[in-house]
Amino acid sequence: MTVLKKGSKGKAVEELQKKLQLLGYNIEVDGDFGSRTERTVLDFQRSGFDADGNPLIADGKAGRKTIESIDKKLNEMQPVPRQSIKRDKITMERIELLHPSLRAETKAIYDELLQRKISVRFYSTLRTFKEQDELYAQGRTKPGNIVTNARAGQSFHNYGLALDFCLLLDGGKVASWNRKLDVNLNNIPEWDEIVWVFKHYGWEWGGDWASFKDYPHVQKTFGYTTAQLLNLHNSGKVKNGFVVIDVS
Ligand SMILES: [Zn+2]
Repeated sequence: MTVLKKGSKGKAVEELQKKLQLLGYNIEVDGDFGSRTERTVLDFQRSGFDADGNPLIADGKAGRKTIESIDKKLNEMQPVPRQSIKRDKITMERIELLHPSLRAETKAIYDELLQRKISVRFYSTLRTFKEQDELYAQGRTKPGNIVTNARAGQSFHNYGLALDFCLLLDGGKVASWNRKLDVNLNNIPEWDEIVWVFKHYGWEWGGDWASFKDYPHVQKTFGYTTAQLLNLHNSGKVKNGFVVIDVS
């Protein structure tokens, strides 16, 4: 194995620099072993041990022992420990607005997500008929972009059988709809995990729809169509503001 040192260039140097960067060193990955890389290797060697537990020789050159030690440290790296995530007050309130037959289950789903260290908000659950009409007007008779094709009664939100979620970043201060983020560092994007848990409980995901993909949306319909639910609603089959449905 070639000893990488000041003046070395190429792929192996690039790889070394990349590893040092992963370990948290402020270093550029340019495949050129210059003074900066030398200082960084020195830094690493001064605090590192070889495979036998002896201190590395701090010479600023990356030979077998130094590279092995870097690899070992990388392997031992744990995901950043995170504080347990507190329940989001808004999510808890919005769950209470769901159809009564979904509340307990949605709480269980939410708790499971928290256990997976996923910080999420269920920001839209029940949407009243009036709210749905206002939303439908947006981008049509009112300013803004069109956000829905559903009129009052045509969305499962109107019956409390759907919810929209987003990720919460920065201690709950920032909303994100980024479907690639892996904040809990388990190599699965949070978005996929959330969808997976909902599906596990028998929910459908708007991201699976062929025509209009609605990525933040999940729903549990118990086999009802919105037309059937609207019929129930219009014929007064309503209890405490929610249509009475058969969930067995
Ligand atoms: Zn939705």
